[in-house]
Amino acid sequence: MRISRALGSSGPTLTAGERDAAATADGVVEVAPALTVLDGPFLGQCYRLEGVQRSALIGRGTESHFVLPHPTVSRTHARVFVWKVQELEKAKIVDMNSRNGTYHNGVRVDEAVLEPGDKIHLGDVLLRFDLLDPTEVRFLDTMNARATEARLDPLTGLCRRSVLVQEARAALSQCQARGEPFCAIMIDLDRFKVLNDTFGHPVGDEALRLAGAAVKRSVREVDLAVRYGGEEMVVLLPGAGLSHGQVVAERIREAFRSQPIEGAAEWVLTASFGVAEGRFGEELGEIIRRADLALLAAKRAGRDRVAVAD
Ligand code: GH3
Ligand code: MG
Ligand code: MG
Repeated sequence: MRISRALGSSGPTLTAGERDAAATADGVVEVAPALTVLDGPFLGQCYRLEGVQRSALIGRGTESHFVLPHPTVSRTHARVFVWKVQELEKAKIVDMNSRNGTYHNGVRVDEAVLEPGDKIHLGDVLLRFDLLDPTEVRFLDTMNARATEARLDPLTGLCRRSVLVQEARAALSQCQARGEPFCAIMIDLDRFKVLNDTFGHPVGDEALRLAGAAVKRSVREVDLAVRYGGEEMVVLLPGAGLSHGQVVAERIREAFRSQPIEGAAEWVLTASFGVAEGRFGEELGEIIRRADLALLAAKRAGRDRVAVAD
């Protein structure tokens, strides 16, 4: 959405061309209401209300406009409304009976009027509300694209391993604080070297791309799927116990098996899986280590199967 704020001595700093393009005859510059993640998971992600959009739902669920798939954020957490009073934009945030509450500049609120620069806490996610001019919009778009690039492995589309350290520990400690289970699945594609050697490295790359897509399709938004190494992946399931983890691993295993690979039609893509549920107070590295041991057992037992850690 394009909305306006009055240009004055404290107005935005624009180049002459941008000022001409943005300012209307009555001295008003077009601005866009935006929410940017300042701290916590999804740092740097930004949501702008576009076109004629007058409100935006924020929450963990995919029905939200601004999806923040984190366990501390409710499925439908809060809604931002914007409206115009004499050319000036007004905005407010309304809590949607969220579990962890909506905090406006540090105070828990049912609703609050928003000013540019205001801070909003939804669970562990800290947002900043802004009215952005065109230069700021371009800057944020560029930074957003770079942040996504830095987060994702370009081949599989899964998160890079560095994300595991940054985000997974927070998700684990949240589950532990709430007494909720937390499960890790370690995945290693079977006989991948043979696939590469037989059909060539580009076909191996294609198989990895398909495997990444199959993993993504098989997990929820709140789950964290990571390319751990060459043909190894880790999926972390906040809130899931061992039996749920097993079900998800079996789902991914089936998705791999039914995935045709271009250039290697006769190859059935299989993987071995190790599943471990976190114990009370257990560190992430230790949970992954136990999942890895279970994976080794799955390999030894003949591959293309799911094994569960002790
Ligand atoms: P196992 O069933 O025991 O897991 O056997 P494996 O052949 O999958 O295991 P190994 O660790 O011997 O081989 C892994 C292979 O994965 C070797 C490596 O060249 C390949 N690989 C790793 N990363 C990539 C990649 O990005 N693209 C391609 N095409 N191959 C990769
Ligand atoms: Mg391997
Ligand atoms: Mg392998």
